[in-house]
Amino acid sequence: MLQANQQQERRPVPLIDPARCNGCGLCVRVCPHNVLEMNSGTAVVVRPEACEYVGLCEAICPTKAIQRLFEIVMLDAASDGP
Ligand code: SF4
Repeated sequence: MLQANQQQERRPVPLIDPARCNGCGLCVRVCPHNVLEMNSGTAVVVRPEACEYVGLCEAICPTKAIQRLFEIVMLDAASDGP
């Protein structure tokens, strides 16, 4: 079983392809949790622990440079599954 700090380290965060990033900065501005910053003209994840995986960055990126590789599905404890 993972400890709390290990789970934190394994949080899914959006993946940014620097080859596709044009440096527009839209993802940095749209993120409500300030997860991203620009670094040498490319968006980078600087606060992964703050990412709530809402996907605004992925939705706004004009070059499709950001992808969320995992879909998070919240299950009701009383349900049998998705
Ligand atoms: S929105 Fe896309 S292209 Fe613009 S800075 Fe972010 S990752 Fe790069």
